This record gives sequence, C-alpha cells and structure tokens, in this order.
Amino acid sequence: MSDTATTPTNATFDQFGLHADILKAIAEQGYTTPTPIQAEAIPVVLGGRDVMGAAQTGTGKTASFSLPIIQRLLPLANTSASPARHPVRALILTPTRELADQVAANVQSYAKHTALRSAVVFGGVDMNPQSAELRRGVEILIATPGRLLDHVQQKTANLGQVQILVLDEADRMLDMGFLPDLQRILNLLPSERQTLLFSATFSPEIKKLASTYLRNPQTIEVARSNSTATNVTQIVYEVAEGDKTGAVVQLIRERSLKQVIVFCNSKIGASRLARQLERDGVVATAIHGDRTQSERMQALDAFKRGEIEALVATDVAARGLDIAELPAVINFDLPFNAEDYVHRIGRTGRAGASGDALSLFSPNERKQLADIEKLIKRPLDVQRLTVDVPVRHHHDERGSRRDRDDRGSRRRTTGAHERTSHGSHHRQQPVDDFFFKPYEPSPSAATRREEAPAAPQKPASKQPLAALLGGFGMPRKTTSSN
Ligand code: AMP
Repeated sequence: MSDTATTPTNATFDQFGLHADILKAIAEQGYTTPTPIQAEAIPVVLGGRDVMGAAQTGTGKTASFSLPIIQRLLPLANTSASPARHPVRALILTPTRELADQVAANVQSYAKHTALRSAVVFGGVDMNPQSAELRRGVEILIATPGRLLDHVQQKTANLGQVQILVLDEADRMLDMGFLPDLQRILNLLPSERQTLLFSATFSPEIKKLASTYLRNPQTIEVARSNSTATNVTQIVYEVAEGDKTGAVVQLIRERSLKQVIVFCNSKIGASRLARQLERDGVVATAIHGDRTQSERMQALDAFKRGEIEALVATDVAARGLDIAELPAVINFDLPFNAEDYVHRIGRTGRAGASGDALSLFSPNERKQLADIEKLIKRPLDVQRLTVDVPVRHHHDERGSRRDRDDRGSRRRTTGAHERTSHGSHHRQQPVDDFFFKPYEPSPSAATRREEAPAAPQKPASKQPLAALLGGFGMPRKTTSSN
C-alpha cells in the first residue's frame, strides 16, 4: 500500500506499453508520472484481471481504469458508420450524475486520438439526445444506474457485448440504494467479462458484492492522499443554531474566501441557505438532487469558473466533484454519517494544496461531533465563534459589491474566536489516521436515491435564484474542466 495517493511514483507511462495515441493524450493532459493507483492498477487491468480497488476520487483513479480500458479496446476501434460495429464494450457505472459527467470528460480526453467512441447517460436530462448517440453506437458507455436501465428498457442500450465493467464509487452506489438496479444491470451482462470495482472503502457489503460478481480479483489499495490530509486544517466553531447563517457569511468574509463549498444535511436547508447568503451579499447557489440536471451543471460550471463564491451542497450532490484547489469547505450542519465528514473535508486541500475545513457546531449536534471524533480517532479543535453579522431578512435589499466589501472589512476586525474547553487544541494536527483505517460503514447509511424523479422544486424566492440560474446564459458543457 502506498503511503500517499497522489505523490509521483518512479513509474512512467511509457512502461505500460500503452499505444502512442493514448500516450499523446496523457501528455496533452499534462500528466508526467502515474499516480500510485495508476502505477498499480494499469498493468493489472491490461492483463485482463478483475480488480478490487480501494481509492477515492482525487487519487487519479479514473485514469487508472480508463487508460487500460482504452488500450484493451483499441484493436476493436473502427471508423465504420454502422452502429453494429460500435457495440458497448466497456460500461462504467457511477453513483451520481456529476461523477458520470467527470468520468466521461476524462475518458473522452484520453481516447480523443483514437476511433473509440464514448458517451455518458444520466437522469435529469432529456433522454432523446442520449438515445440518438447510443443508436449511433459507442464502445465506452458511462452511466448512472437508473438512466441506464431506462435506456435498456427502451432498447437504446444493449449490454450483451460488454467485456469490461467498472463499478466506480461502489460504496456510494450501495449507500444510495442502487443495489437492486446494479443487480439488474449485472444480470444483463455477459458472464465472461472483466470487472473492476472501485470503492473508497471496503465495507462488508462491498466485499459481498465483490465476492458475488468479481472473479479472483486483485486487491489494490491506495491510501487517501497523505499530503491532502496533512494540509487540511480542521476547526469546529461552536455557534447557536440561529447564528449559523451569519457565521458562514462572517467566515467567508473574514477569510476572504472566494470559492467555498458549504455542506448542508438537507436539500431544503441547502436551498434556504443559498438564498440567505445571496441576501447577505455572498454570490451563492445550491446544488442538490432536486435541482434539474442543467441547473446543477450550470451551477457547477459557474463555481469552477470562480463566478460563484459559495456552492451550497448536499452530500450526494457533492460526491466526487473534482474542483481544483478549493481553499475551504464549511459544514453548515455536521453530517449525520460521520464518514460524510471525511468525504466533505476531502474536497479541500487536494493535490497537495492547503485547505481549511470549517464546521459549525450547535449544541444539538453533540452526537454527530462525537461520532466524527470517534471515526477520525481524535478530538477536534472546538472554538467559540462570536457572530457579529446580523443575517439580512427578506425585506433587506441585496447588498452592493461595495456594501459587501465594507461589511467584510468591518467583520475582519470584529470577528472574535475563542477556544472552548471542549476537545483538544491541536489546530494543525493532520487527519492521517483516518485514511489508514479500514472502512466501517455507518449503520444509518440512508438509502438516498439521487436518481429518483424528484418533484420540481418551486424557487421560494425567485429573484436571487433566477438571477443565478437563468442569468448565466450558457449552454451546459458536455465536458468538465478536468
Ligand atoms: P480522479 O481521482 O480520477 O478524479 O483524478 C483526480 C485529478 O487528478 C483529475 O483532475 C485528473 O485529471 C488528475 N490526474 C489524474 N492522473 C494524473 C497524473 N498522473 N498526473 C497528474 N494529474 C493527474
């Protein structure tokens, strides 16, 4: 097991015997050295063996399976216009639409100098363009389970010639209640195939899934990036529940945060907080399962471009997002599942950059805090935050940029932190321990189902959200910025 997940290895991409067209694409991506998961997984996948990989998003795991898949399918690449010459040969399943889109963008860029075709299908958007693309034929299909089954039912996707299956973030798929869908999909695949299962963690459920569907898999474990972990400063701020919105505004202003993900436990809470932040002059939007796919993609793209300061997200929506150099995350609520805390703080301090994980803690969240401390096996640094920012109410006008800046500088001088007696005071202590510990699933892992059709959400306040969502005036990108 490698001690860090993204530190360069001694390996080179040349040594794997990858085709020149793939090496060219890798070089164009700016990759010079394989990450540890790539160094370990690429030869095994090339050799045709099943893999059980323990690696999270952010470790380079997408390339670790995509590059050898492309290499293995290359002999079948062709430029024929006949759809029959382009059956689905590799299927990559992901739990969320955002992850599917990111993986698809990666696959597309790695395969761009080859004749292999790839496509992505996920729910929440019109099926017709996806159907048209599938009918033309694609060799590599990236999909979320629910929408894939819709296509199977409509006979736009045929899985009878799949040779390679990837289950990406398998733990999350199970957490989200996708097991029945997964089983239906697996039953549609040829039994003679290569199966690659990637999961951040190996819970008993994951092991069971693997023992049922994988054949003599090679286990590959790569620690979550040690450098990421050591570079994340974690602080818990004790505040009254009613002061949390003001606390978020204050932290954003005091720390001059230009790009922060704020995590909420509920979709309604996320929407409400985004609106409140907007009223208080923070450019914010919410991203969660009840937003349409195009709203989610617009919000994410705008956030990546730096046009949105605060992306207010639920855990499911944020899972797997690869946003480079995110300086901070804020937990508006402490998560009910302690492991979500680790996923959340993993959004910052990526790729060796430093980051702050700031959590708001109100007295009714003692149990969540205790669960997190138990999971990461150390007490967290708890400080009291004096919130001096009154939250604007509905009738307040939206602050002008100047007004915002003025308030920001005032807060910088008046915000007061003071330590409480709770916990220890190892502010700089890294969280490495967690990343070396075997996964223990939360018994309460909710059966959240991002794919379930959600009732259209009425924007409670038209003005700020409409400005954000309608105001971008940009088409949905088909590729992420990775
Ligand atoms: P992933 O874990 O697949 O989500 O990858 C995380 C990020 O690392 C993505 O932005 C990739 O483009 C990037 N990445 C993957 N492999 C490498 C590599 N060998 N060198 C540099 N960056 C990489």
